[in-house]
Amino acid sequence: MDTPDRERYSRQILYRPIGEAGQAKLLAARAAIVGCGALGTQQAALLARAGVGELRIIDRDYVESSNLQRQTLFTESDAAQALPKAVAAEAHLKQANSRIRVCGIVADLTPENAAALLGGINVILDGTDNFETRYLINDYAVKEKIPWVYGAAVGSTGATMTIVPGSPLPSEASAQETPCLACLFPEPPSGLHPTCDTEGILGSAASAVASIQVAEALKLLVGDTKALHRKLISFDLWENRFQAIDPGAPSDDCPVCRRREFAHLSGDRAVQITLCGRNSVQIHERRRPVDFAELASKLTPLGTVRSNPFVMQFSVAPYELTIFPDGRAIIKGTTDPGLARSLYARYIGS
Ligand SMILES: [Zn+2]
Repeated sequence: MDTPDRERYSRQILYRPIGEAGQAKLLAARAAIVGCGALGTQQAALLARAGVGELRIIDRDYVESSNLQRQTLFTESDAAQALPKAVAAEAHLKQANSRIRVCGIVADLTPENAAALLGGINVILDGTDNFETRYLINDYAVKEKIPWVYGAAVGSTGATMTIVPGSPLPSEASAQETPCLACLFPEPPSGLHPTCDTEGILGSAASAVASIQVAEALKLLVGDTKALHRKLISFDLWENRFQAIDPGAPSDDCPVCRRREFAHLSGDRAVQITLCGRNSVQIHERRRPVDFAELASKLTPLGTVRSNPFVMQFSVAPYELTIFPDGRAIIKGTTDPGLARSLYARYIGS
């Protein structure tokens, strides 16, 4: 470590569990952030300033003014230009720390590109807003024995858990150390679940989750795995509830970490997307029927809703979402599959 780095990270080096040896490990480490919204912007800023040597930031969306309340990296100018979040994040992080490598990648994480985007990474941080991408991260991370840190925030609530694989060294190959996401939630939560775009979110709830995730990532990267919290942590900052549940051992019949069947990674269960006519994208969401009455009550405050028993239409300029009872949707106003998936996750649910 050179003198500028010793000075720059001096307060973190003074913190004994990190020290100079830990700081050197951070500078040599590579972290990926999947999703650069409320969680991802905080994770990225903290990791960049902590001196994690390489940050890979993957996001499929662009900056809008409604992001600025909580997505602390972005500026009014980013929103006015509708810059891709990965691009804006990279630019701002390079200004915060020019001595690390920051790579913003404008992409939707898919089974096809997971290895290219997450290969060679030491820890993955979940900044996504949907279960579909989380199951994909879980498959890839368990398969490749990369630790990852689950996180979620909506309203005033947050939740996080750290998923630690067995040793990746062939000489000490071992079973999964903690439960994986599929041990806890074998199937995505059924029915509609709240999203930031239907229920709102406090910036402080997202920041709290991201801060815990980053502390866990630093423990992993300096090798202090005994310090990991090893709980499913959840809280409600408005209702003043804090919980830490011991998730127990990995599930004996977990398809992912025990049977090592990676269905989300193989694409068997991926959402099918097709470009559908001019300026629209069709998403075949096969797995989750939609309750029109429940969805209409969530969406009515956000745009124009029309429905009959066969189809429901939701207009929010410049887009129109046509939703079928089996979960299929046609999204008009874009030909970008990543944006269409983002709109689907935002308004219909992941
Ligand atoms: Zn598992």
